[in-house]
Order: sequence, then structure tokens, then C-alpha cells
Amino acid sequence: MNPIKGLLALSLTISATANAETIVYTADRMLDVDSGRMIENPAIIVTDGKIARVTDQNDPVEPADAKTVALGDVTILPGLIDMHVHLDANPIYGGYSGLQFTDQFFTVQGVANARAMLEAGFTSVRNIGSDNYSDIAYKQAIDEGLIAGPRITPAGYSLGATGGHCDQTFLPPSFQAKSPAVGDGPAELRKKVREQRKYGAEVIKVCATGGVFSRNTEPGQQQLSLEELSAIVDEAKLWGLKTAAHAHGAAGIKTAIRAGFTTIEHASLVDKEGIDLARKNGTYFGMDIFNTEYTQSEGKKNGVLEENLLKDRQIAQLQRDNFRAAHQAGVKMVFSSDAGVMPHGIAGGQFKIMVDYGMTPLQAIRAATINAADALGKADQVGRIKIGYHADFIAVDGNPLANIRELEDVDVVVKGGTLVKGQ
Ligand SMILES: [Zn+2]
Repeated sequence: MNPIKGLLALSLTISATANAETIVYTADRMLDVDSGRMIENPAIIVTDGKIARVTDQNDPVEPADAKTVALGDVTILPGLIDMHVHLDANPIYGGYSGLQFTDQFFTVQGVANARAMLEAGFTSVRNIGSDNYSDIAYKQAIDEGLIAGPRITPAGYSLGATGGHCDQTFLPPSFQAKSPAVGDGPAELRKKVREQRKYGAEVIKVCATGGVFSRNTEPGQQQLSLEELSAIVDEAKLWGLKTAAHAHGAAGIKTAIRAGFTTIEHASLVDKEGIDLARKNGTYFGMDIFNTEYTQSEGKKNGVLEENLLKDRQIAQLQRDNFRAAHQAGVKMVFSSDAGVMPHGIAGGQFKIMVDYGMTPLQAIRAATINAADALGKADQVGRIKIGYHADFIAVDGNPLANIRELEDVDVVVKGGTLVKGQ
């Protein structure tokens, strides 16, 4: 750091500490996501963006002249966490229609997506797969206070095999289009892990099987070997990174679980053996069981190719049935919407589908709070309203345990102690 910048940073730190602002948020109700209990008349005391104390509205607050924000007749709950988003994706530009724009167009338009996620109540997201390191740029711009958005755990580019789901699959050979994170064999893939981390990735995303929105891949098709997947997990662990495997097909899911991935994304065609393995290994499933309605109703108009729409139709219902089976068998679940496949602002619509397919409202909320925080490796920072945690919380005007659809229309969003929506 140059000395002038260093001095400036030092003086900013000092003045921030000297002016430690305390804000008190009160409401009629607050959901304790650990116990499932509804707490009446809570007060959340925030100092410097962190939760300093959680108490009753009638208890005295220090300092006595602290600013109070009375939210009134609402239910507070922790800020939501979506474990699978693509902030630089936009479903409106499906299939080949995206090629009309320059590469950075997608980074720029994603600034609005970051804000949309935050206003939908998602105060943290894991961005698993972006082009041009867009997710790292959003994180930096949000941290600098230049744009609004959630806390981001970025992956950079998704790793994958040559010609696999995470390669460039839409162009003929003369274009020589290739994702910069494609690798074949353990050594190449280890290097790709290091490259992503070098440029800011905090989680490693891998395409272990084919997928819906690529060309010439099949969701059921395993695309990386156990040896390759194990090398990726081993390398990520060396650097202290968690891992996410995109895997639709049963063989790819089981191989990724055996390799030690933290989360399996999609898990659409998982079989009984895969469910048992996930439960035994403590592997999280993040199943995007909401976006098919959007894809089927809007995809054609957006330019999505019929072959991609067909793949979505073939697996959507099976995935929902397998969500129920995996949850009932005791697999740990996180909230993963794959927003970007559908508009980011509607991601909260997935809660209702999770309840339709076997979860209680409390279990669905836990998937997007305490479970997600654990799978992020940030269970001591986000996902709960607790002393020392980031002051990230939301409020809805009804009771989400009685009507989970309250989470489709979040009334109040507070991130880092700052009211970003509501009132
Ligand atoms: Zn995705």
C-alpha cells in the first residue's frame, strides 16, 4: 500500500471507532431460526454494523440517546442466503441472443441484479460461476460502498472439462471459443483452482456433469473423473476453500460426494445410493426447484433453444420428487435458486416450492439461513441474529411460519446495520 493511502486508511479506521454509532431496531416479533420460537417485542442493538445485543424493547439501551428504528407490526428474521446465483447472467438474453453484446455488457447489467437480490431479502449470496470475474468486481464495488448488493462469496469462473457444461459450447470450431477455466486431468484442474483463487475466488465451482443450458451435453452425463474431482477438492482444501459441484446425473453426483465436495448443486437425478452417501458424508444439496416455470413460460421468447427447453422439461419434475426424497432421508439442504436462469428478484419464490415438496416453513427458512451459513463456512458471521454477527436481517408484515409466501415480498432489509429497504 502506498504511504498516503495507508495513512488515510488509518485515519478512517480511527474516526469510525471514535464515532461507533449505535442503532436500535425494534419490532413486534422476531423468529429465532434455531429454536423456531417467535420472540415478542425484540430490540436488536447494532454497533458499527454488527449485532451488539439482542434484548427486549423494555430493557434500557446504552447509550440512552441511541437512534431507534421502530419497524412496528412485522416479523424480523435473519437476512436470507442464496447459495447459487449468477449475478452477471440475465435470462432475457437466452441462447444465441447474448452474442449481440460486448463481453462486459453482462458485468454491467449485473449491477442491477445485485441490488434486486438484496431488495428481495438476500443479504448474502454465493455466486457460483461468472465470466470476466464479474462476481469479484461486484464484491469489491459493494465493499467499497459504490453499488448496492448482498455480501458475495465469489467463485470466479466455473471449472470443467473441455466440451463440458462449463465450457463455451455454442460456437463452431473456427471461433476457438474456450472457457478460461477448462482443464483436463488432475494437474490442469489443480492449476485452474489456483488461478481462480489468485484472482479472488472464495469458493471453487465445478461442473461435474452436463447441464440444461449448454449445447451438446446431457444432464445425466458425468464429465469429470473421480481422480479429477478429488484433485480439485484436495487443491481447494489446501487453500482453505469450500467447493460446489454442479451435478445432475446420479453417477456424477455420487462421484462428487465421494470426492468430498461441500455442496452438490441441482442433484436432479440423484438415486437412493446417492442420497445415502450424501447423508453419511454430511454433503449439502442445493436443489433449484423453482426456476422451471420461468424457463418454460419465458424461455422461447428469450431465445433459449428448444433442445435446452426440452432438457429442462425432462428433469424438472424428477428433481422436485428427488428434493422430497433427499429431504425426507435427512440430507442437509441449502437454498440454491440458480437466479440468473430466472430474474434475480423473484428467487424467494422457491420457498413455497420447498414447502410444497416436503419441508416445513421453518426448515425452508433454515435452508436459507443457518444451513447456508454453515455450508459457506460463515456460521459465526451470518444466518443468525446473534451477538457479534453482521447486522443482516429482514422483516415481513405477516408470519412466515404460517405463510411461507411472505418471503416473496420482503418489506424491510437491513444489511450491516443499514436500512436498505423499508420504512
Ligand atoms: Zn448455476
